[in-house]
Order: sequence, then C-alpha cells, then structure tokens
Amino acid sequence: MAQIRIRNVRKDFGAFNAVKSSTFTVEDGEFFMLLGPSGCGKTTTLRMMAGLELPTSGEIYIGGEEVGMKRASERDIAFVFQMFALYPHMNVRKNISYPLVSQGMRKAEVTSRVAEVAKILRIENILDKPVGGLSGGDRQRVALGRAIVRNPKAFLMDEPLGALDAEFREHMAEELRALHDRMGATTVYVTHDQLEAMQMGDKIVVMNHGVVEQFGKPQQIYDWPATKFVAQFIGSPPMNFLEFEGSIGAGGDQISLSGNVVKVPVSRDEGFGKLALGVRPEHIRFKDDSAYRGRVAAVEYLGTTQIVTIETAHGEIKARTPSNQSARVEELIGLDFDSRNLTIFDSATGNALV
Ligand code: ATP
Repeated sequence: MAQIRIRNVRKDFGAFNAVKSSTFTVEDGEFFMLLGPSGCGKTTTLRMMAGLELPTSGEIYIGGEEVGMKRASERDIAFVFQMFALYPHMNVRKNISYPLVSQGMRKAEVTSRVAEVAKILRIENILDKPVGGLSGGDRQRVALGRAIVRNPKAFLMDEPLGALDAEFREHMAEELRALHDRMGATTVYVTHDQLEAMQMGDKIVVMNHGVVEQFGKPQQIYDWPATKFVAQFIGSPPMNFLEFEGSIGAGGDQISLSGNVVKVPVSRDEGFGKLALGVRPEHIRFKDDSAYRGRVAAVEYLGTTQIVTIETAHGEIKARTPSNQSARVEELIGLDFDSRNLTIFDSATGNALV
C-alpha cells in the first residue's frame, strides 16, 4: 500500500509561513495533482513528501508509516524533476541502471530490470546512445526510466513537462498518464496548469497562499468549487461572479438579481449581505423573453462555440454559446442561467454556500 497521508502539515521558512496546516490523502495507485499559482506552496508540499524538506509541524504517512522526519533515502519514493537530471557522460542504459547499480544489485537482475523499463517506455532502440544527443522527449523518457526502475512506493513529479513545448507537452502528458495506467503506482504531480490537472488527475488539490482550498475529483472541483479562488482558477474563461446584496435562507432556492428571480440549487448554509452568484460561461443561455438583460460588448468566434462578453447591471460576464446563436455587438440580449449549475458564494469569506 502506498497511500500518502498529509495531516495538519505546516512549513515555515524563518518567519514566513509557506504552507498552512494542510490535510489531504493520496490513495494507493492514484494520479494526484497538486495545483496552484506560482508561490502557493505546492513544491514545498511535494518536497516534504519526498523528505527534501522537513515539516515544521504535522505528520506525513507513506504506506501507513509516519515518515515526516525521515530522510529522503529512507522513504522509497522516486522524485522526477522538471530539468532532466541525467548523467551526460553516460549512455541511456547506464543512466537507467545507475540507481540499481549503486544499490549493489546483481548484474543479471539489473539487465532484466532495465530491459523491462525500456519496453514500458518504448526506448529499447536508444539504450546504447549517449544522452547528450537525445531529443527533449527521449531525455524525459530516460529520466522517467531512472525513476521507474527502482520500483518505488510512489512517484513525486515537479512540473516534469514544464521544459517541453506545448504540442509535445500534450503528447508526453498522454504518455505519462497511459504509463501510470499500466503501472498503477501512486503518483503526485505538481503543476500550475489547470487544464493539465483536469486532464491527467484522478484527484486534484488546489492550493493558494499555502492553503488547501479544495481537494477532490476534477469534475467535483469544476462543478462544485468550494471557494471563489477555485472557481476562478479552474475553467477557461473562468466562472463569472455576479455580486449582489441579499439573502438566501437554508433550503431557499431563489434569489433576486435587480428584481429578476433566479432559481438556484438548494443549499444547507444561509447567507446574507454581500453575496456572489457564480455561473460558468457554458451555463448562460440567450433567451429573448428573459427580463435579465445585458449589452453585447464583444464576440470571439472559436469554431463550434463563441465567447460572448456581455455588460450587465452586475458587471461584465462571459458566455460560451454555440456559434450559430446570433449575438451582435451593442445588441441588448436576454439572459437565462441554468439553475442546476449555479453556486452562491459569501463575498466576505469567498466560501461557497453548500
Ligand atoms: P512555483 O511554481 O513558483 O515553484 P510553488 O507553488 O511550488 O511555486 P513553493 O516553491 O512551494 O511554491 O514556494 C512557496 C513559498 O515559499 C514561496 O513564496 C517561496 O518563495 C517560499 N520558499 C520556498 N522555498 C524557500 C526557502 N528555502 N526559503 C525561503 N522561502 C522559501
């Protein structure tokens, strides 16, 4: 079992609190994404899992064992960096076998393990080439090979595709995910790219300013963001917020926007004062007889869909609609929100009413 449990983990660098008390669990075999903007503490969290950084407080369990204060070498995990940390003077075979040779493994076993890994990564044909002349993708495969060959309890990856160009990055992301599905090893992967996290992850932790804002499956996080930060960070264009003052009681299911009644999903929490209605661009429809109207400010054609920017009494919002729906700049347009897919946030705390 290589479940990784993070319990109330905190990290201070001197007076600076980089990771606030964090709690989440990576289940055995999961492909788990640590997602957030630059400086949010995701690398520090990963480095604490790896044993490259010690937590100031809290516990880290790998496979049920508390390892928070153990050295990296005692944790049986592999760390894959963004930069291909390969030995340039060695060929591919030597680079991959190095961790096994340095453990003192018998030569015959090393040969068979390297052959197995080369097959998984489909790099049998380059085993005897020097790493210096390899393409970016092949170097990345070799770096992965060196991590896989040890058969560790878990893989920890810090933006492993960050150095690749966009097209190749997508290809390698698919390859990495397929590799994970074949091997089934617990993988924790740091990224600041929300699309990459949504596409690759079984689960995602979203961090901001050292705080775990939410953790769950990609669709849960997309459909039911716990905070305004998560709602804006995930999705492109991001969720719209229509700020209003009002109240909604527990179990209530409608709000008033400039006198227009909008049905919203029933929540258990109550809210009053400054609230925000969160609506994703694809959940806005044009409806001629709607009393809630806005003026079209811009139309961006994207092929099958279009992004329509609309000025409303509650600020500018963006709708994603089929591109055959007519929307002309300056036109006044009636708007309808899909009531099953709305979220109300408390503007003061940024938290969703659930
Ligand atoms: P990035 O994607 O830019 O690496 P990140 O989310 O991975 O961002 P971290 O690298 O974990 O963020 O850093 C979190 C915060 O802690 C940042 O403000 C960073 O400057 C600070 N920090 C990280 N390591 C140290 C250190 N060794 N000493 C002091 N401050 C540090």
